[in-house]
Amino acid sequence: MQRKAGKKVKKHLLLIVLVIMLIVVAVIGFFHTKQPIKNTGKIAKTSSVKKVDDLPKGVKTTDWDLVLVNKNHSYQTELNFTKVTVDSKQIDQRIAQALANFRSAAQKAGYATTLVSGYRSIAYQTTVYNNSISQYESNGMSATEAKRLTESVIQVPGSSEHQTGQAVDLAGNDALAAYPSLEASMDKFKSQQWLIKHAPEYGFILRYPSDSQSIKETGIDYESWHFRYVGVPNATYITNHHLTLEKYIQTLKKAGR
Ligand SMILES: [Zn+2]
Repeated sequence: MQRKAGKKVKKHLLLIVLVIMLIVVAVIGFFHTKQPIKNTGKIAKTSSVKKVDDLPKGVKTTDWDLVLVNKNHSYQTELNFTKVTVDSKQIDQRIAQALANFRSAAQKAGYATTLVSGYRSIAYQTTVYNNSISQYESNGMSATEAKRLTESVIQVPGSSEHQTGQAVDLAGNDALAAYPSLEASMDKFKSQQWLIKHAPEYGFILRYPSDSQSIKETGIDYESWHFRYVGVPNATYITNHHLTLEKYIQTLKKAGR
């Protein structure tokens, strides 16, 4: 009887195993056909989440074209890079082609431009800075007042972005003729507007925008003529997200770049 019962149990077990196997096969089959649809949904969801953190790939804060120079990030020793001379101004050789393309596109659009300023050494900046202070002092100003007035228009030596060779003061010829000493309102000229609008296509950003938040972040008033090379991916991102270079670098750092 035990053997008979054992046989019966074995038969039952076999049936149960078979049924389980069938269910498993059915379930696997069901999920297999469902999976592609499920996956697309998942991918779409992930990519929409990723859009919040869509920083350009491979970009790091230590990249040469993201070097940050401002009042809080000053360099007291000259940066080392190869310079080339363009229209008797020096610039970092690595931005020369981009700048040439930018200016020739402006020319094609009908706007001749002048490269007003490029690389300036810390030594040169020091001379300009000291001369300005002496000038004010010889006009009878106190040392404090002379320093304050100087620093309202001239960067403290070591904190000017021009020492990177990646910053250029670029102006439409007509705008420059009207404002030879460079003024914010030269942006009323179509030439300057063209430069501001198209700069990112050539890897440049308008470094000191006019809105109050940007001025707070850069510490510098609106300059409609000062462009900084950061490369096309960075320039595109910065422009699309309305960031300053300061804010962008902060964002990259937060992302561990
Ligand atoms: Zn400048």
